[in-house]
Amino acid sequence: MNRVRCLILNAALGPLDYRVPDGMEVEPGSVVACPLGPRTVIGIVWEAKRLPGTDVPAEKLRPLREVLPVPGLPAPLRRLIEWTADYYCASLASVARMALSSGGALKGPATMTEYRLSGGLPERMTPQRQAAIEALEGEQANIRELSGMAGVSEGVLRGLVNQGVLEPVEVDCDRPYDHADPDFAQPALSPQQRDVADRFIDAVSARKFAPFLLDGVTGSGKTETYFEPVAEALRLGRQVLVLLPEIALTEAFLARFEARFGAAPVLWHSSLKSTERRRAWRAVAGGSAQVVVGARSALFLPFARLGLIVVDEAHEVSFKQDDGVRYNARDVAVMRAHFEAAPVILASATPALESLQMAESGVYTRVELPSRFGGAQMPVIGTIDLTEEKPGAGQWLAPRLVAGIEERLARGEQSLLFLNRRGYAPLTLCRNCGYRFQCPNCSAWLVEHRFSKRLACHHCGHETAPPATCPDCGEPDCMVACGPGVERIADEVAERLPEARVFVATSDTLNSPGRAAEFIAMVEAGAIDVIVGTQLVTKGFHFPELTLVGVVDADLGLEGGDLRAGERTYQQVAQVAGRAGRGSKPGEVLIQTRHPEAAVIAALAAGDRDAFYDAETEGRRLAGAPPFGRWAAIIVSSEDDTEARMAANRIGDTRPQVEDCMILGPAPAPLSLLRGRYRYRLLINARRSVQLQDIIRSWLGAVHHPPGVRVAVDIDPYSF
Ligand code: ADP
Ligand code: ZN
Repeated sequence: MNRVRCLILNAALGPLDYRVPDGMEVEPGSVVACPLGPRTVIGIVWEAKRLPGTDVPAEKLRPLREVLPVPGLPAPLRRLIEWTADYYCASLASVARMALSSGGALKGPATMTEYRLSGGLPERMTPQRQAAIEALEGEQANIRELSGMAGVSEGVLRGLVNQGVLEPVEVDCDRPYDHADPDFAQPALSPQQRDVADRFIDAVSARKFAPFLLDGVTGSGKTETYFEPVAEALRLGRQVLVLLPEIALTEAFLARFEARFGAAPVLWHSSLKSTERRRAWRAVAGGSAQVVVGARSALFLPFARLGLIVVDEAHEVSFKQDDGVRYNARDVAVMRAHFEAAPVILASATPALESLQMAESGVYTRVELPSRFGGAQMPVIGTIDLTEEKPGAGQWLAPRLVAGIEERLARGEQSLLFLNRRGYAPLTLCRNCGYRFQCPNCSAWLVEHRFSKRLACHHCGHETAPPATCPDCGEPDCMVACGPGVERIADEVAERLPEARVFVATSDTLNSPGRAAEFIAMVEAGAIDVIVGTQLVTKGFHFPELTLVGVVDADLGLEGGDLRAGERTYQQVAQVAGRAGRGSKPGEVLIQTRHPEAAVIAALAAGDRDAFYDAETEGRRLAGAPPFGRWAAIIVSSEDDTEARMAANRIGDTRPQVEDCMILGPAPAPLSLLRGRYRYRLLINARRSVQLQDIIRSWLGAVHHPPGVRVAVDIDPYSF
């Protein structure tokens, strides 16, 4: 091969052709350094027949500089990159960048430098140095990461390096991981579990694409069951990828994994240190990483011998990426398994309608675990009609729910109150003039967080201290809270049941694996009586003494008329209900609602999942919504409102006329201002037979915009 076509990573260019100098060995997938103008950029050698390129004769092409000393991207991963770019209307380069996201893994040697405290002190102590030294006790990372942890500038830390207060440590990124042993501790499976596990094991040994929907009630032991094919893959020397929705908070999962396999899995998520990223990437590519447990981005790792993929809690929203390349990890996982010729298991107690439909139509094999493990009973579910059983003034919990908590307290059992709203109150007003505290960057209210004494935007992260006076009318001490958040509910419990030990569990309080582990230990030790939490506590946790779950406001998710509102509410409530009574003591769930007659609530109360899914399926069929029809969104944004609106109109004005395809908008997007960008949206609804992506590509490709305008395509948008 004397010429190759390369996918250039850091350029908005198409693929480019290069000459291969004599003696250089390259093959498809090789990661190479290419000249581009005066610069050198990174590229991936690609199959020429799959990429459009130039016809420039070989002797006129510029030569490749070098082949980087890292494993190339395997063919199945290249096929996945092509599929993802194609399906989600993204550029190949933007998807390929995700595959090489570890960046440093590319050029990097096997060792990297980190720093840690040496025990020495600086000649001159300053408050910043003092703060840094206190914050970095026990930490070791590179300067950029340490600066983030300590909240001081990199300059301050470099000063400490120069004075020997921080000392360098060479980290070997090729040191091996502990060996996971498939036979370390084999649990005795129930006959039901055994059946399911055997089917998975057969699929792993067959080394063929086989998609499974593992549909098992909460507490049925889905994890134990899919650990068996994981063990089989290990015996066969194949790698395994397990995707979890909330990877930074998976202490409980990791403990179970270690108990089963005698070693921790390899972790992959966005807050890994760069040495850990590089180590994981290299071990995955080299084949020595046996089991990777990761967030959705782990799907694009260059596995050498992938033999099984598991997506746990496969219905979870967090598998949908909502910026950059907007993909759904659940669906990409199935495609990856397809290209790898491996089985994939989607596990859930409340599968997405799309997944059930795939099972119904025979594309996925559905396997069921219809009862809880060890004879534990499903909880009894009741509703509290808030229009009849009213909470007192300024209260949010009905008397019956409080009585339920009190009973549990008396018996030394635990309760969980679920409300999917962080902070103290969703909206804060000035008592004098009615001024609403709003985010300067987003069309969203600022949320008061009383524990941390901040007003925060949950969309862009903007934070301020609560002002002493109203910014509008100058009234002192003016803030009034409207509506409840978890912190307010915790206050109410503390007020009405002063002896209860209450813990607020949200991404604010459980923001690291360490904090999550502490929380679990406290619950297990019986040091917490009432957990008040957001969706973070709806899944995964297994607390045998937790016998009461209260859903504070089941109507919350049903407002707004979102296509998936019913499904999401069903999933959330069923999941959180699944936390109750998992041990030997029976569980009870109380759902507070103003609409006990709503189909979702009635189905939950009756424990009749099929009734809900049947009604939901019929509704979707009539609306031409997924899985019966397809939706896509085009989101046009700019920092300038007029510019964004004009760009959206340009797109709207050139809309194609296609049969069975309806194009709506443009209209202001639901968050019409987000992170300082004004957003407009067009929605496309089409029959399944319509080649939606082709239409969108040729349509958008013909419209040109000023540089400040961004156009994003969202195929199968999660909510709108
Ligand atoms: P799910 O994920 O389906 O909600 P889990 O996998 O969390 O259920 O299992 C529920 C509980 O039952 C866990 O504590 C788990 O360890 C236990 N369990 C499930 N299957 C077995 C088994 N075969 N042997 C021992 N314990 C089991
Ligand atoms: Zn904001």
